[in-house]
Amino acid sequence: MLRCPVCHQPLSPSQGCYRCPKGHSFDLASSGYLNLLLPNKRHSSHPGDSREMILARRDFLARGYYDFLREFLCGQIEECLAGQSGSTLIDIGCGEGYYTQSFTLAAKAVDPGCHCYGLDLAKDGLKTAAKRDKDTLYLVASLGDMPFSDQCANLLVNVFAPYSDEEFARVLAPGGYLITAVPAENHLFGLKSFLYEKPYYNILAPYDLPHFTLVSQQVIEKQVTISPGQDIYNLFQMTPYFWKTSSHAVERLKNLEQLDTPLHFGIIVYRRNSLD
Ligand SMILES: [Zn+2]
Repeated sequence: MLRCPVCHQPLSPSQGCYRCPKGHSFDLASSGYLNLLLPNKRHSSHPGDSREMILARRDFLARGYYDFLREFLCGQIEECLAGQSGSTLIDIGCGEGYYTQSFTLAAKAVDPGCHCYGLDLAKDGLKTAAKRDKDTLYLVASLGDMPFSDQCANLLVNVFAPYSDEEFARVLAPGGYLITAVPAENHLFGLKSFLYEKPYYNILAPYDLPHFTLVSQQVIEKQVTISPGQDIYNLFQMTPYFWKTSSHAVERLKNLEQLDTPLHFGIIVYRRNSLD
């Protein structure tokens, strides 16, 4: 179900690498991830790519503040894959695999033959993920040209990553599911109130996805106290505010004794329409 990023022919595993019939070949890294990103597609403006941000996200997520979101998503995955056999799950924008490893466990609990993939542009994160999790194949690849054959997937999961109606619709089989997690109205309002004089609430709205039908929209919320110092700063680095906050406000944030804030997520599930 993997396809060659050069010629779009099927890729097959062969002695530590993946090859297509035309002879394009991609080596598995020693940590176990597969780099399918072509050199001319390596440019990315996605700020999440920086090594500093990857480390901040990894360390923050490891502290457990977002575990309730991960557990909720795992429940959704089990529902979507119930009764399937030999299904395919792709976690899009998987980062360092904090969610992915649990998604794979959840998927294999209901479908032991499930093929699980994590996809991201940043290979630093995938290196960490692939070392820790041998049940998922981690791929460095572009989200706009995913290295999967048409209609091979039964479930795509997208946690705070960019989306593409056309590309998701191409890869998903008709009737397949797309689970997205996005910030809901109150998400990080405590942080925003500290940083800005007039903080705004997020607007929670489903994506515009013409090839999909909305199945469900749910919100989950938890009030948390973020520990001072590194946890607060790591969280800040994971947000878009990192790019638009004055150095004065950043200094105040670094000296904050604790941060109380809601975490508020929207989990929106869509289903791929029949072929059109
Ligand atoms: Zn090829």
